[in-house]
Amino acid sequence: MSEKWPLGVFASIDAGLGVDLDVARELGVTTVHLHTPHAESRTPERIAEFRKRLDDLGIRVTCVFAGFEGESYADIPTVERTVGIVPKDVRAARTAELMEIAKFAKALGVDTVGLHLGFVPHDPADPDYTELLEITRRVCDACAADGQYVHLETGQEPADVLDAFLTAVDRPNLFINFDPANMILYGCGEPLPAVEYLGKWVRSVHCKDATWSDQPGVTWGAETALGKGDVDFAKFLAVLDRIGYTGPLTIEREIPQEPARQKAEIGGALDLLKSLKSAYGL
Ligand code: MG
Repeated sequence: MSEKWPLGVFASIDAGLGVDLDVARELGVTTVHLHTPHAESRTPERIAEFRKRLDDLGIRVTCVFAGFEGESYADIPTVERTVGIVPKDVRAARTAELMEIAKFAKALGVDTVGLHLGFVPHDPADPDYTELLEITRRVCDACAADGQYVHLETGQEPADVLDAFLTAVDRPNLFINFDPANMILYGCGEPLPAVEYLGKWVRSVHCKDATWSDQPGVTWGAETALGKGDVDFAKFLAVLDRIGYTGPLTIEREIPQEPARQKAEIGGALDLLKSLKSAYGL
């Protein structure tokens, strides 16, 4: 990729999360993170249709984000219970589905799979920690065989805990998708020192904003429009520049799929990022 920091949005084909691809096109966005479509949409016929539609729109998918039936982000304890491959009752099934999602991404021509692993135990002596290390290695190895990278979404653990986990997994195709707002929403630390500390692992980012909870780590902070929360995006870009990150700036905004509202909010976020990029001659 030659262009530094191309703009992107988190988009959805059918899963009801993220921006509709037509809205992305209207806003002039050229890259997207794609929320995984439902299993019934991951057939060869539908994949061929998606590929043609993306080509027609001039949009490149830079990461397919895994999502699973039964996940809920209602509050922090619910996330802990339902999100990712950490919940034990669904661990085996979701790990298998994750491998299928990686194959879907490959068929779509995408070399990166992102996911929320879920709440990894903070204590490496926890037996579950070892099991999650093993699963992550298996997923990485399967993806490596297809020339793919695996990006873990940040936010559900402090930067030093995540760094220790990534180091322990020890796979060359494992990286992170750094989401500054998640650090705030989950109460896991100030995002700017975290992105600097985790610099070598950062291979994609979400541009999302949020305000701190009055009980960090216990209750959610609040997601906001870009530039209205506690993330200083001018400083965020300065750190990204310092750590040598040149990949897409992918706007993530969890608002209903109402085109008018999406156009207004995502348009505002794009304007902000464009003005901040201009300081770098971009
Ligand atoms: Mg995110």
